[in-house]
Amino acid sequence: MTRTTPPRPLDLAVVFPELATMSRKVTRLHPRTGAPTVADSSVGGPLLWPKDEPWPTCTRSHEVYEVVELEAVRVAHHLAVALSSRPEDEPRTPEEQAVFDRSSPKEIDSPYTDPVPLLPVAQLYARDVPGLPVPDGSDLLQILWCPFMDHDDEIPAVHVRWRSADQVTAVLAPPPEPTVIELEEYWPAPCVLHPEQVSEYPAANQLPTAVAGGVRAWEEETGRHYSEFAVAPGWKTGGWGVVTSDDDASAHPPCGTCGAETEPLFTVGLSEWNGDNEGGWRPVEDADADTARRRSYPPLGDQTLIELGDEELQIYHCPESYEHPPVIARVYRTL
Ligand SMILES: [Zn+2]
Ligand SMILES: [Zn+2]
Repeated sequence: MTRTTPPRPLDLAVVFPELATMSRKVTRLHPRTGAPTVADSSVGGPLLWPKDEPWPTCTRSHEVYEVVELEAVRVAHHLAVALSSRPEDEPRTPEEQAVFDRSSPKEIDSPYTDPVPLLPVAQLYARDVPGLPVPDGSDLLQILWCPFMDHDDEIPAVHVRWRSADQVTAVLAPPPEPTVIELEEYWPAPCVLHPEQVSEYPAANQLPTAVAGGVRAWEEETGRHYSEFAVAPGWKTGGWGVVTSDDDASAHPPCGTCGAETEPLFTVGLSEWNGDNEGGWRPVEDADADTARRRSYPPLGDQTLIELGDEELQIYHCPESYEHPPVIARVYRTL
């Protein structure tokens, strides 16, 4: 099944002609609950990882005194999905309740210091994702993160790996995984993807000053929010980054190795559409989602279940070299 963003309810380039040259391609990933394999593009699915390649771990310190068991989170998730198709008034059995209880946070006595195997976040095959940047000879992008976000510099530990799928002859299965994680919201529920390429414009705080003034005036006059129409919400690759910086610079962050301006690579987004859907981002195939939403678990526009406290996580890559480490930003999404 494909997912199709409807025609824009408002053509921003007509309202603001200065935007005409600022349209950028972005690929919305449209993650939906599924059972991906190593051969699929996925969020929260298994990675095509060579048996003889070390699995990445996080060795930074984690000031965490409460954890949840990963396997308990996974089992509770699958049960919640199964229960969502049962009549609402049918109560949980004691056995079912025990499954949910096991996935609740547990206190630990001292900070969690063991090296932590990273969790797979996403795997993208270039054949599925239009415009995906990949080095020559590669066709697969893999992203993992540390399931403890609470590092002392507040920067999540994210690992980005490009590879050539046909060079993986023996797959590491099962891969190492952490026994406990910081929060269940840091475990991506398995989803298959329905990538769709659309266009977007810079967010309001990313606009050149000359345009930004006109946008502010328009927002005051119409009561509408420019960014709702400009920026594709949800999980995506490419497009425009949203970086708020103290000096109001509109550029994406510099590469930490060579200083070049980086390019948005991957965004762990919030909901795929707003409740009132003013920006018109809800796929036409999900038109009845707001009536179905109350019943469906996970909600249709939030099927990865990742929540980073109203923030998006953005990964930027250096256009000069794929060897340069990515830049990671957590961005509060303002409309
Ligand atoms: Zn870590
Ligand atoms: Zn660089």
